[in-house]
Amino acid sequence: MYFLKNFFILPLDIILILTNNKQYITMKTRKESQNEFDWKQIKKELQKEINESAFKAWFANMDLEELKGEDVYFNIPNTFTQHWIKEHFMNNLTSSIKEVTGKLYNVHFLVNKKTNLETNEQQETEEEQQKIQKPFLHDKYTFENFVVGDNSKFAYAAAMAVSNAPGREYNPLFIYGGVGLGKTHLLQATGNRVYSQYPNLRILYTQTEEFLNEMIKSIQEYSTVQFKRKYREIDLLLIDDIHFLSGKERLQEEFFHTFNALFEAKKQIVITSDRPPKEISGLEERVISRFHWGLMVDLQPPDYETRLAILRSKIQSDNIQISDSVINYIASNIKNNIRELEGCLIKLLAHASIYKTDITVELAKKVLTDFIKEKEKRITLEKIIKSVSEFYNIDADEIKGGKRSKSVAQARQIAIYLSRHLTNLSLKEIGNGFGKRDHSTILHSFNKIENLMRKNNRIKGDISTIKSKLTET
Ligand code: ADP
Ligand code: MG
Repeated sequence: MYFLKNFFILPLDIILILTNNKQYITMKTRKESQNEFDWKQIKKELQKEINESAFKAWFANMDLEELKGEDVYFNIPNTFTQHWIKEHFMNNLTSSIKEVTGKLYNVHFLVNKKTNLETNEQQETEEEQQKIQKPFLHDKYTFENFVVGDNSKFAYAAAMAVSNAPGREYNPLFIYGGVGLGKTHLLQATGNRVYSQYPNLRILYTQTEEFLNEMIKSIQEYSTVQFKRKYREIDLLLIDDIHFLSGKERLQEEFFHTFNALFEAKKQIVITSDRPPKEISGLEERVISRFHWGLMVDLQPPDYETRLAILRSKIQSDNIQISDSVINYIASNIKNNIRELEGCLIKLLAHASIYKTDITVELAKKVLTDFIKEKEKRITLEKIIKSVSEFYNIDADEIKGGKRSKSVAQARQIAIYLSRHLTNLSLKEIGNGFGKRDHSTILHSFNKIENLMRKNNRIKGDISTIKSKLTET
C-alpha cells in the first residue's frame, strides 16, 4: 500500500503524520434517543454557535461519511483539522448534533478522502519544485552596491560570511536597525549572492506580514501541508521585518514551529527587524533565545563620511554631475535614513531636469525644505490615531474619547506622544484632536510616555513599530 509519511512540526506541538490509512478519534458520549441525522440542519445549528470565519474554515466543507448506530463519521482533510476541531469546537459539534437529532452521538473523524487529494497535489508540486526558480529578489540589492561604513561593517561582514557558506555559520543571522538603514538591502544581497554562487539552493525571500497571511490562509483552506512543505524545503529563508510579530502571540507560536523545523534541518535563516528581539512585544523567551543562538548584528545610522560616500556612489552609478558642495549640503542635513538620502537626491535631479536649472546649493536647500515639509504633512493626527488603534486593536473613537480603562488610556497617551513627536501641531491643536483635552493634559501624557519608554522595552518597541509604519515612504 502506498504510504506517505510527512513529518511537520505543527502548532500546538503536534507532530503530524499523514497516512492514507484511516485515522480515528473517538469521543464517548451518553446515549439518548430520536430524530433524523440531518447534517445540513446540524451545520445550520453550528453556524449559530460559532463565528462565521471559523465555521467557514472548519465545517463548511466537512462531509458526513457514515452513520452507524450511535457512531457518526466525518471526513476531514488532515489531522491538523482533526486536532483543531477537537480542541476548539468539539462541544459545539456534539451539542449541535444533539439539538437536531435529540441524541448524543460518538463523533469520529476520518482523515481519508481529502488526504488522498492532497497527496496528488503534493506529487504535482513535487514535480514543479524539481525545477529551481530564480528567487524573487531585486537586482539592485547587491553587496557591491552597499557602501560599508563603521555603522554597517559588522553586519555587512556577517551577511557576506553567511552567503559564502549558508547554513554552516551564524544561524540564524539576525540583522536589526532603524528604518531606511539598509536591512532589506543586506538581506536581499545575501540572497542574490547565494544564488549566484549556489544556483541549486532554494532561496525564499518573504516579508513577515506576507508569511503570516500565507500561513493563516493555508489553515483556512486546509492546505497546511503544502504550506509547511514549501517552507520546509527551502535552503535559505530570508525573512524581512520580523518586528511585525509584535503583539501577535498566537501567530508567533506557529511561526516558531516552522522556524524550528528549518533550524533542525540546518537550513540557513536570515532575519531582519527594526529592533532587537527582546524589544519585540510579546516575543517568548524561547524564541528570543533561539535568535541568540545565531549571530545578532545591528545597523546604525551612517556617519557624515559614510553618508557622503553613499551619495557619491549613487551619483556615480547613475552617471550624474553634482558639485561637492551640494553633496555636502545633503549629507549634513539628512542623517538618520539612507532611503531619505536617496529620495532627496532623486527629487533634486527631477527638479533640475524639469525646470532645466543647475543643481546648486540654493536649489538643494529648497528641495530639502519641501522634502521635510512634505514628510511632516504626511503624518496627521488622524493617521497617528488610526495606526495606534490598529496596533492595539482599540477603536479609534475610544482613543480620541474619554474612556479611562488602563489599556485605552495608555494607547491614547502613546498617540498623544507620537502626535507631539511627529507633527508640528501645538499642544492646543493636539488637545483638540483628543476630545478637547487641555494642553497640560497633553504635556502630562507626553512626559509620562517619555519616562515609560526609558524603563519599559515593550512600550519602546511598540512605539518604534508604530512610528516606523507612519514614517515609511
Ligand atoms: P530598511 O530595510 O532598513 O528600511 P533598505 O534596505 O530598504 O532599508 O534601504 C533603503 C534604501 O537605502 C535602499 O534603496 C538601499 O539600497 C539604500 N541603502 C541602504 N543602506 C545602504 C548602503 N550602505 N549603501 C548603499 N545604499 C544603501
Ligand atoms: Mg526593509
